[in-house]
Amino acid sequence: MELEFYGAAGEVTGSCHVLRVAGRTVLLDCGLLQGGHDAAARNTAPFPFDARRIDAVVLSHAHIDHCGRLPLLVKRGFRGPIYTNAACRDLLPVLLRDTAELAARDVERSNRRRDPDERPAVALYDLQDVERTLELVHALRYDERRALLPGLEVCVRDAGHILGSSSLELWCSEGPVTRKLVFSGDLGQYDSPILQDPHHFDTADLVLMESTYGERLHRDRAATVVELGEIIAQAARDRGNVLIPAFAVGRSQEILYLLGLHHDAWQLRNWQIFLDSPMAIEASKIYWRHAERFDADAVHLRAQFAAMPELSNLHLCRTPDESRAINELRSHALVIAGSGMCNGGRILHHLMHNLERPECHVVITGFQAPGTLGRALVDRAPFVRIYGHSIRVAAKVHTLGGLSAHGDQDDLLKWYEAFEGRPPVRLVHGEPRSADALRAKLAALGAQVAVAKAGERLDLVTMEGLR
Ligand SMILES: [Zn+2]
Repeated sequence: MELEFYGAAGEVTGSCHVLRVAGRTVLLDCGLLQGGHDAAARNTAPFPFDARRIDAVVLSHAHIDHCGRLPLLVKRGFRGPIYTNAACRDLLPVLLRDTAELAARDVERSNRRRDPDERPAVALYDLQDVERTLELVHALRYDERRALLPGLEVCVRDAGHILGSSSLELWCSEGPVTRKLVFSGDLGQYDSPILQDPHHFDTADLVLMESTYGERLHRDRAATVVELGEIIAQAARDRGNVLIPAFAVGRSQEILYLLGLHHDAWQLRNWQIFLDSPMAIEASKIYWRHAERFDADAVHLRAQFAAMPELSNLHLCRTPDESRAINELRSHALVIAGSGMCNGGRILHHLMHNLERPECHVVITGFQAPGTLGRALVDRAPFVRIYGHSIRVAAKVHTLGGLSAHGDQDDLLKWYEAFEGRPPVRLVHGEPRSADALRAKLAALGAQVAVAKAGERLDLVTMEGLR
């Protein structure tokens, strides 16, 4: 019985851990690596295991850094079941099909520029691989303990991060020994809009815990919401537009929710609101169908609307023509579009038309990786390049910290402190600085804690080095 770290050890993306129990091998997540010059090469590299010999996958949530290499696993011979929560199962087709389509477009572009004697590029996987993957997905109910394989029982618990996100509770048995492993998945903030708080566990023999914001405290959420209202009011006085780059799943729905909640106070009837992302439109429909996972405030708001949310001035833009038509509007257009880090997608042409206008406002609401256009805007670059053009940044750029989908250091500590008896911890899913800061905090609480290393194996029978 052992656990081996493969991805998201010492970094944020590429979540993947290998659990061996009673002669079976199970993956916890199988995510894509994102960002960094070598991500593409690392994604295509062979797995350190034979995909055909993996018996099952248990998936924490539908973010691409957790599920994005599942179709590659299938392409390389995996045929077992993929277990995840029902809402996550509903979001997976949206995310994985989009990833395959983006990959196909990237390959087409690089093959057009290729020298005749160079080998043509091949996509990591295609839509067929995605469809075969989706056929393997089995839904698990929250809070229901299920035997998945001989020696392995699993219960998925709400992690409050995005819709359908789970922390995994795994009971592993070999002969007389049973160990309970808790994998946090990605943990949401407490009191975040729409979703419930992360589930608190009582016991564990080993905790595998994310550390994305292990060194940071988010700005107060209430202050963040007030600030968003003030930005919209200022943009109205300036007679400009508001652009909000947003991830299609999670962030787009939170922003829409806030706009619905504060529709009157923020005088949004004077605005035209655009959700300019087919993927975000699909994800919003799925959020709406899973109201059973909403918190009390969101249930209350939902009762007042027939769709999510029912704003009379909300336009859902599916086609590129609908998206381009927004460029005609000089003021009172509020545009939510992807990508969240401005490194692609429809937000680019909106930025191109609005960045040079001082009366316009850009609202950054999520993590911006180094090297992305979003990061350049946050860092106040005076000029940026979009579609090969140099664009002067005259619009006002606002960075709102309080809307993150990840809990901050206090949230992470609060989640851990709910365990009885300070179980041992391995930290995953964090840049080294964040993981190390959280390690020091947990150690001060008396936990046996270390940052997971790629390739490290833990013996869950002897628990060597864990107690
Ligand atoms: Zn996530």
